[in-house]
Amino acid sequence: MTQQHFRPTKAFIDLQAIQNNIQNLKKILQPHVQVIAVVKANAYGHGDVAVAQAALEAGATILAVATPEEALHIRAHFATPDIVLLGACPVAFVPFAAEQRITVTVFDTEWVQQATSLLTHSTIPLRLHIKVDSGMGRLGVRTEEALLAVYQSIEMAQSMEIDGIFTHFATADEENVQYFEQQVQFFERCLAVLPKKPRLIHASNTAAALVKQTDLQYDAVRFGISMYGLAPSAYVNDILPFPLKPAFYLESALVHVKELHTGDAVGYGAEFIAPTNMWLGTLPIGYADGMLRKLSGQEVLIDGQRVPIVGRICMDQCMIALPKAYAIGEKVTLIGGQGQEIISMEEWATKLDTINYEIPCMITQRVPRIYGEHVCFDAE
Ligand SMILES: *Cc1c(COP(=O)(O)O)cnc(C)c1O
Repeated sequence: MTQQHFRPTKAFIDLQAIQNNIQNLKKILQPHVQVIAVVKANAYGHGDVAVAQAALEAGATILAVATPEEALHIRAHFATPDIVLLGACPVAFVPFAAEQRITVTVFDTEWVQQATSLLTHSTIPLRLHIKVDSGMGRLGVRTEEALLAVYQSIEMAQSMEIDGIFTHFATADEENVQYFEQQVQFFERCLAVLPKKPRLIHASNTAAALVKQTDLQYDAVRFGISMYGLAPSAYVNDILPFPLKPAFYLESALVHVKELHTGDAVGYGAEFIAPTNMWLGTLPIGYADGMLRKLSGQEVLIDGQRVPIVGRICMDQCMIALPKAYAIGEKVTLIGGQGQEIISMEEWATKLDTINYEIPCMITQRVPRIYGEHVCFDAE
């Protein structure tokens, strides 16, 4: 069923841009290296099913998620591709993971024992990727002994198989390589002690895949932020091997336009006071859509010009200063371009003292994601 969207506040997702970013990545990968499309967190807010479909069409072969629920949601739409659950797998999820052929992350012998006891009736072996904590300090085995213990406990279990081993870099997006190289060395030592090489070794996130040595691509790279056309850091942005195409555009439209007289107040707290006679527009987007109150003062685009949000941002609405009277329905771009002007995720991130990753993730589900014509999905 195609859902009709009445409110003009919408996120437009350019799936073609996502596909271009993947195709460009593939050109800098060694030919055997697989692309793992990271579609966790609803594909960084872009919509996991549509993005996964586009990514698979563009040549990604594996999908990665962060939670069991995300894994099941993806599996319900895609019967065949490998799905890797990168986050910790709760033991209770083990039978579902086996049944749904979801590959899960393992780093603890006790977990292996508990999982084994839940798999006694399973005919499909549970596929595992062993996680090595080479310096991220998040998940993973932290010594070669611990790695071997996990490896051997899995080898002894009937109902499981080791499909891969991976690690995650903490500083791949930085210029200083010292910590990064330390992580690489520890991961290499871990690989060296394995009795047998698993099918899939993977280490690189976006930053490492784009700017580090090609031998660190191993068998696969995990492509997240730049699949969405965003650079992992300012440093990586300056040395990108190919231009990235952003895929997320946020738009709304004027729902009310009025003239204020000098001294008229706007919004909660009556904080903004018109310094002169001026035009004011109301937009149907607020903090419940993810446009946080801290974005008060942020500029938006109307008619190719930058104008500021004035007064406090409300839950569902906000107000903008207008250079003149515009008609109701006039398009307003919150993230994206108009004419010569562009408002980027990075501009919002700077205003919010955060990173671009957080911006599409914080646009809530109330804002419908609208996809290009070339890939049609029924909104769910
Ligand atoms: C989120 C995540 C990624 C993707 O990181 P990007 O910087 O977006 O490429 C890769 N690997 C793991 C383990 C992750 O959790």
